[in-house]
Amino acid sequence: METMKRTATCGELTKKDAGRMVTLNGWVHRNRNHGEIQFINLRDTYGITQVFIGDDADKELKKVSAELRFEYCVAISGVVKERPETMINPDMTTGEIEIEAKNIEILSRCEVLPFMIDEESDAKEDLRLTYRYLDLRSGGMQKRIKLRTAFTFAVREYLTKQGFMEIETPTLIKSTPEGARDFLVPSRVQAGKFYALPQSPQLFKQILMVSGFDRYFQIARCYRDEDARGDRQLEFTQVDLEMSFVSRDDVLKVTEGMFQYVFEKTMQYKLPETFTRLTYEEAMNTYGSDKPDLRFELPIKSFDTLAADTTFNAFTSVLEAGGSIKALNAKGCATYSRKMISELEQAAKIYGAKGLAWAKVTEAGLEGGITKFISEQADEIISSMEAEPGDLLLMIADKWSVCCNSLGAVRSKLGKDLGLIDPAKFVFCWIIDFPLFEYNENENRWEAAHHMFSMPQAQYLDTMEQDPGAVKGDLYDLVLNGYEVASGSIRIHDPEIQKRIFSIVGFSEEVAEERFGFLLKAFRYGPPPHGGIAPGLDRMVMIMAGQTSIKEVIPFPKNTVGISPMENSPSIVDEQQLKDLHLKLDFSEDN
Ligand code: ASP
Repeated sequence: METMKRTATCGELTKKDAGRMVTLNGWVHRNRNHGEIQFINLRDTYGITQVFIGDDADKELKKVSAELRFEYCVAISGVVKERPETMINPDMTTGEIEIEAKNIEILSRCEVLPFMIDEESDAKEDLRLTYRYLDLRSGGMQKRIKLRTAFTFAVREYLTKQGFMEIETPTLIKSTPEGARDFLVPSRVQAGKFYALPQSPQLFKQILMVSGFDRYFQIARCYRDEDARGDRQLEFTQVDLEMSFVSRDDVLKVTEGMFQYVFEKTMQYKLPETFTRLTYEEAMNTYGSDKPDLRFELPIKSFDTLAADTTFNAFTSVLEAGGSIKALNAKGCATYSRKMISELEQAAKIYGAKGLAWAKVTEAGLEGGITKFISEQADEIISSMEAEPGDLLLMIADKWSVCCNSLGAVRSKLGKDLGLIDPAKFVFCWIIDFPLFEYNENENRWEAAHHMFSMPQAQYLDTMEQDPGAVKGDLYDLVLNGYEVASGSIRIHDPEIQKRIFSIVGFSEEVAEERFGFLLKAFRYGPPPHGGIAPGLDRMVMIMAGQTSIKEVIPFPKNTVGISPMENSPSIVDEQQLKDLHLKLDFSEDN
């Protein structure tokens, strides 16, 4: 049966259309019956239009309109009328008009809703995910998914114009764990063997460079079988790219250009020509984080020299043991109570600090906290911390990394508490010169800080094995508003260097050959120097949309324990499916 087809959307009619006979298709967003007049807000993805059914409407029409409930899917035809002056809604594109209904067809009915369809839902997450199709109808979700689409389109436009080719890489690959656990897919045809879902297209994009494609990109789905932690998803999307015959700055420049274009296109937001660059050490020393939020300053300073002159044992003993003292001037916070200072201390302790020393700056000098131990140096401290009366000085003495991370947490808390963050701002920065290796204390071995295919900086090539901790890599991260939004590196294209890296991270030749032999083999056939980066699409769109969870920008995410309550995955499968895959379940090792 033909249904009444729309001649306009719910988001386009203005007073210029007054007098037109139109048909709209959409959902009953609101339904108010005032007895003599019934108002319906009809919604589709383009907007909302107000419809009314007057007291003088014909009986048949009134009968149908009386049946309408929230979220019924309907077709309404009627005449566009200018609203009376007092009823104009300047916040809506269609706020100048309403439709006097002449005919209503119910296209489908809707059961009682589990939650109202509003701009944002306040329903519990699992309920939202169970009824994701309803949740996605909300104004907020519609806007965010549209932003995501616009983002992806702008990325494609920009990169294609820059000569990048969009090339797909397989999602059933050999298991080559990149840091997290692989998702495995059993092969039916090759009994006892498994594919893995890629953690990223890393090896394939490098191989595409060996194949001579020069500039590759892909909006790539990546899979990591990780335990629920923070705002992670088992599958997520990267804007994966790789370039041949480039150095670090070429990759940074393309990435900056891409985001300038994307922000301009999708949000009419102008980013600076180049993004601030900080070395890893600068970022840690000044902001206490390798993903600093540069929407505000509040820098951390070294307190080593000043502390060395004091008689404060808690400081001098740490210095003697090779540790550091770092300090932060919390501007205007001398009014902080002990309770508020202890809340700052709690933030520091999460990152290992044993305590947070403090002193208030007054007209007379320093006061309270550890003043009595440092009073002789008061003038010098005040001037080097650029402090003035009303400020609060905060200090941590510990290992360098503990000082940085703990005071970085205090800085972040102060940024929020003092309202120093402008939520309308987007501030990018690059972090460069990362250490290539990190020591895994639990497993007593060196690990790649990014991944095993990143190039050590040239000056460390001769001494890499003697002191892996000192090696800096040709690695870079892109940070936006305090979030890491991309990582990348210049890659190793020399099989010998690659073998040395495998050996430092504890892969025997046999294991390296077994897992990555295909890459080493490809590298024997004239690989070009190459490098790339992979911005996380979900996280980028999340930040642009002013959200704090990536679930708000992913159409069908999993919940915190990796379940999708809508279709109820993961789920058990029948015996025959397991048999076909040559699998038997055994839970005896659990618990
Ligand atoms: N494949 C890397 C990752 O997923 C990114 C890159 O180095 O390009 O982190």
